[in-house]
Amino acid sequence: MKIAVAKEIDPSEPRVAASPDTVKKFKALGAEIAVEPGAGLKSGLPDSEFTAVGATVSADALKDADIIIKVKRPEASELAQYKRGALVIAIMDPYGNEAALKTIADAGVSAFAMELMPRITRAQVMDVLSSQANLAGYRAVIEGAEAFGRAFPMMMTAAGTVPAAKVFVMGVGVAGLQAIATARRLGAVVTATDVRPATKEQVESLGAKFLAVEDEEFKNAQTAGGYAKEMSREYQAKQAALTAEHIKKQDIVITTALIPGRPAPKLVSAEMVKSMKPGSVLVDLAVERGGNVEGAKPGEVVDLDGIKIVGYTNVAGRVAASASSLYARNLFSFVETMVDKKEKKLAVNWDDELVKATALTKDGAVIHPNFQPKV
Ligand code: NAD
Repeated sequence: MKIAVAKEIDPSEPRVAASPDTVKKFKALGAEIAVEPGAGLKSGLPDSEFTAVGATVSADALKDADIIIKVKRPEASELAQYKRGALVIAIMDPYGNEAALKTIADAGVSAFAMELMPRITRAQVMDVLSSQANLAGYRAVIEGAEAFGRAFPMMMTAAGTVPAAKVFVMGVGVAGLQAIATARRLGAVVTATDVRPATKEQVESLGAKFLAVEDEEFKNAQTAGGYAKEMSREYQAKQAALTAEHIKKQDIVITTALIPGRPAPKLVSAEMVKSMKPGSVLVDLAVERGGNVEGAKPGEVVDLDGIKIVGYTNVAGRVAASASSLYARNLFSFVETMVDKKEKKLAVNWDDELVKATALTKDGAVIHPNFQPKV
């Protein structure tokens, strides 16, 4: 069983899919590990860290691999190096990318999307959405603090008092909860909003204040899967009115609101942005999915007369070493379920619910029901 750790070809992707810790674990499963040169460099892992735990580092690492582990969906030039029948496991970003999935299918590899892992207890250790969102939520506050140019905690000094920063977190999933906790640790006064009622108690347990339109629709806004529904226009209007008043008084707004398979909800209008004080900062973690803040631009910090909208993409990647370490562990845990431990060989159970939920392509075809080519 040969496993290859790919070097990401996207220059904006600093993460890597393995760590010295997971290489050791893969070896204990009986796998040979080959790493492409420089794969871990941007995550603080020079090749020597991998060779020290028994991996080989080789430019040909991908060639005969049975499993290729990586961070981003492989492009055609990468697929050309994989052997037919190989498994490739990554964050595949499949929604709206059906053409790319067809290219993967045509290459004859079996692709698995880590982000489609069901959120069940057994798969918690494989949950890349959580591991990466947690770091993104943390980093969003750090980015906000950096762009703010003022202190977060209240400081009473002989030279005068610095007021505590006011932070408003919109969307309280995994990223939002970590953003609240991080902003609180830095001494900010934190408020937060979400459309799922379950979040109210979570927000309050972190010492922040909850703010939301708590009507009948709010009471039913959570799907059976634990996600938010797309809210009605009426609800959105009420939410906007409440938010508009609150945002005026905030120093930092961090938005993380997402709806699975849909564009991110627009929560902050250009007018609301304009109503903030100069020096205020908005950090839009949803920018890659269309953005929660009007005027946010992917990969840019927009400055509107002293109000900044931070639109960094791949925010977890801005804490690359930690993000890689957790991602590597998520991946290992998934691959482990595909190995016959006695025989020490690959034995994919295509009927396993984790495999069914994540498998996109097999034997030259797109097999996932959600991404069938449109006829
Ligand atoms: P997400 O990334 O899909 O969305 C982020 C947040 O945005 C969610 O809290 C959502 O309710 C909120 N949101 C959506 N529309 C909004 C709007 N119009 N206004 C305000 N907020 C809005 O969510 P997530 O971080 O993936 O977490 C979703 C849920 O899944 C949470 O309940 C989380 O605890 C749960 N979860 C479960 C597991 C598990 O059981 N293994 C693992 C991770 C997360």
